Amino acid sequence: MNFTLYNANLFPFLFSSPTPFHAVANIEVHLSQQGFIRLQENEHWQLVQGQAYYLTRDNGAIIAFILGSDESCEQGFRMLAAHTDSPCLQIKPRAEIKTGSYLQLGVEVYGGSLFAPWFDRDLSLAGRVCCKTRDGNLAVFLINFRRPLLTIPSIAIHFDREANKNCGINQQRHLPPILSQAVDQQFPDFNSLLLDQIQQEYPQAAIEEILSFDMFCYDFQEPTYTGARNDFISSGRLDNLLSCHAGMTALGKAERTKNVLLFCANHEEIGSTSTSGAQGSFLESTLERIIPDPTSRRITLSNSFLISMDNAHAAHPNFMEKIDSAHEIHLNKGPVIKLNANQRYATNSLSAAIYKQVCKEAKVFPQEFVMRSDLPCGSTIGPITAARLGVRTVDIGAASLAMHSIREHTGSLDPFLLYRTIEQFLKSNAHKKLLN
Ligand code: ZN
Repeated sequence: MNFTLYNANLFPFLFSSPTPFHAVANIEVHLSQQGFIRLQENEHWQLVQGQAYYLTRDNGAIIAFILGSDESCEQGFRMLAAHTDSPCLQIKPRAEIKTGSYLQLGVEVYGGSLFAPWFDRDLSLAGRVCCKTRDGNLAVFLINFRRPLLTIPSIAIHFDREANKNCGINQQRHLPPILSQAVDQQFPDFNSLLLDQIQQEYPQAAIEEILSFDMFCYDFQEPTYTGARNDFISSGRLDNLLSCHAGMTALGKAERTKNVLLFCANHEEIGSTSTSGAQGSFLESTLERIIPDPTSRRITLSNSFLISMDNAHAAHPNFMEKIDSAHEIHLNKGPVIKLNANQRYATNSLSAAIYKQVCKEAKVFPQEFVMRSDLPCGSTIGPITAARLGVRTVDIGAASLAMHSIREHTGSLDPFLLYRTIEQFLKSNAHKKLLN
């Protein structure tokens, strides 16, 4: 595989995963095509060495693993983690706002979103709808309108001559997107719109009423190359679907001889505390069922190694004062090891050394990032998972620009370079070579 071929698979994954629910559904499809067996949390399991399995929780998180035919569990797992969610605008439960002749939708900001890039975009809607069916059951439908449906127009410069000096966007007043305009005082009904979409995507569904939904706005623009030589990739949700895709692809191709595990968690952007977030019990309780004996599980985890993947900040050429010049990160120059003295990243010298060995095996050169000492550092699921499980962890990720914008950027080579290191990791013994 080369990077063009790799990106040809990545782009449709990014575009067809506008919400964590869709990302998990796409990962499920990919892994079942590779022979992974679906497990349900509410059933007993009969696990067999040499087999591959996956399970999901709450539509937003997925764990997939292979019990290697050549290894006992106690020999440890090569573990990968990433998150399925991205900052965005979520529709409020009583969504409709009527202003003059316009019908708008009330939105809450999900995660640490940059607001300004949401204006003047062709937005679509996707998410999950919970309905009462005609036979009296509750059914969940994932829907994706796949067309430009909403816009948040900017205020013209003539009404705000200072607009370029301070953007002063108020989340409550300035972000509700416009859905439609009334004809003869008649506004379309938001729930009927959802219902029509469900009927289109699930013609067999017999729905009595919509009870609730988790619907999100997203930018209806496909991922694309930019730059004179297609140097870069521009797309929504690169943070962190890029990493989920790398994990999914590597696991799908992994041989069934070694113990490997992938955890894609939801809700990282809002602190990870939920049933499907990294702070929740999903990974821990899954490991408890794979290795029921507590001592055996402890041995397994101390022989395991976790690569936590989340995008890293590349140096922005117009804001070079924001970076530590000794740790200048560039696009297309390899995956980034993220370090922080206050453990906002889980990396330490031991885990960094192991990842560097894996990179050597994969013939990829990593970069090293630390935040400027006078700026606060972000965090990710690495420290949470490392602390919960007591597993040695490195935080790494693909270099990117415009993190948390509706449109983010990475280098054309970066997804593939990241992938090569984790593909190598799943067959490597580098983490076993550290003498205790
Ligand atoms: Zn992230």
